[in-house]
Amino acid sequence: MLKVEDLSVYYDGLRALHSVSLEVEDREMVCILGPNGAGKSTLLQTIAGLLEPRAGQIILGDRTIQGLPPHRVAALGLALVPEEGWLYPQMNVTENLLMGAFPKEARGQARERLDLVYRLFPRLKERRRQMAETLSGGERQMLAVGRGLMSNPRVLMLDEPSLGLAPMIIKDIMAALVRINQEEKVTVVLTEQNIFHALKISRRGYVLENGRVALAGRSEELLASEHVKKNYLGL
Ligand code: ATP
Repeated sequence: MLKVEDLSVYYDGLRALHSVSLEVEDREMVCILGPNGAGKSTLLQTIAGLLEPRAGQIILGDRTIQGLPPHRVAALGLALVPEEGWLYPQMNVTENLLMGAFPKEARGQARERLDLVYRLFPRLKERRRQMAETLSGGERQMLAVGRGLMSNPRVLMLDEPSLGLAPMIIKDIMAALVRINQEEKVTVVLTEQNIFHALKISRRGYVLENGRVALAGRSEELLASEHVKKNYLGL
């Protein structure tokens, strides 16, 4: 479904990603783990077309997508929920969600998509007329995830969806991601520093360190690995 091959990305001559390769199967949930500055956001932004790689390939389905502008990548069914959410603070919840229904095909299904988002996040439904800027951090993250879903993506990529949130809210968001993956059959790729949560819900994971894939495997293997235990779980 999504394949990244030997991807290298630079910022002003400094290499942020070194020959990164990964593969995500249709309907799989895969996490990309790693400490601050490992290159997780750079990887997702490059896949989404926001950054241009210096080398390597990105393949979505049967198309090579590197070099395409973000709106073309989105139209091919790939949605990114960025770390900051990128909400419209002065618009209400419903209006923010409708802004996510942008590829032409998604516009006709906006009503159904809205119902789906409100089923997944009843808290957003209660607050549908509230301005985004007055939402709590957790509600804002739910809204960002919901907006990503409005485009009816085949692949939903989320950049650290649990960042700065309380454990109870993290549980809600992770449970919603599982439903999106299992019930809505959307392929999910998420980056996380919160390794334990991410590995619990994902099938496989990649550990990025200094812009390289340091370790990859099934989630239970990663959870049991000495490297992960020692460096990420403090065990
Ligand atoms: P975090 O969890 O802190 O967001 P990350 O794993 O997402 O970290 P990136 O944000 O992708 O990591 O950063 C990877 C490297 O690229 C870091 O060394 C960072 O300083 C650098 N970098 C990121 N964005 C830029 C930019 N716009 N200009 C220059 N360097 C950047």
